Amino acid sequence: MAMNRIQFQAGMSLSQFLELYGTEEQCHAALEVARWPDGFRCPRCGAEDHGHVNGRRHRRYQCRSCRHQTTVTAGTIMEATKLPLTKWFQAFYLIGDAKTGISSLSLKRKLGVNYRTAWLVHNKIMQAMSEREEAYVLHGRVQIDDAYLGGELNGGKAGRGSENKVPIVAAVSLDDAGHPIHAKLAKVETFSFAAIADWAQEALAKGCEVVSDGLACFRAVTEVGCTHQAVIVNGRHPKDLPEFRWINTVISNLKTSFSGTFHALRFEKYGDRYLGAFCYRFNRRFNLECMTDRIVHAACNCSARPERLLREAELAT
Ligand SMILES: [Zn+2]
Repeated sequence: MAMNRIQFQAGMSLSQFLELYGTEEQCHAALEVARWPDGFRCPRCGAEDHGHVNGRRHRRYQCRSCRHQTTVTAGTIMEATKLPLTKWFQAFYLIGDAKTGISSLSLKRKLGVNYRTAWLVHNKIMQAMSEREEAYVLHGRVQIDDAYLGGELNGGKAGRGSENKVPIVAAVSLDDAGHPIHAKLAKVETFSFAAIADWAQEALAKGCEVVSDGLACFRAVTEVGCTHQAVIVNGRHPKDLPEFRWINTVISNLKTSFSGTFHALRFEKYGDRYLGAFCYRFNRRFNLECMTDRIVHAACNCSARPERLLREAELAT
């Protein structure tokens, strides 16, 4: 799809969203379908026969074989939630619809909940989105570059060699027509050969044709069966070359997102989750209409994550 067709696609309007997910019943039914597309199955014994019991917040399902009781949110990122399901769905919609991201503070205002609740809902949903992204590897032609985020409050130099900034590998795969397909963004300790080899192991399929600028460590992609072409720049700014057009667009969108939305973000601690959510949206931009529904599925397929774990740095991501 051409870029302008992506930007001008209809997506899902607020009215459409409210028609589909405006009530608790509708949200409950959507979660039930996402959890058990072939009908209810007891998570303990696998039996299908069940009855319903009214729980304190949500309807409970009781297995007729083993008497185990469960809810539509148990075992998902929404487990034990005290929020109405409509608020969760509003968060799915708002997070999925925000091209350059949304802050927890903005989410707090829009959902009408306190900041801590908004932060938790936001981070749980971003966690679910990130985990979906981890499963992807890039294929085919890939542009790759280094980027630096965070640390603006401390000043310092911009770009490579700057202090207080978190180094990120940015990569985007292209189709035969040279259009971007998937983006992948990850924090790295440093731009060393070993660090890029580790990154490539996780991020690239064998046989990728990787193009980068002359930064030596990018040669490490050959360690995992990819080819590498370094475009050595003669007097021209590497960012102006057509070889780097899409990776530059991705990095520039990312920087806009972070400076505009996440300026209070403790990037070193929570950065992976934000990068994952950014890529999730970018990689599904061809079909904005389905974004909310896809996030519903991501949330249902991500296991419960207590606040303590979400707030711990690397464990959570
Ligand atoms: Zn059972």
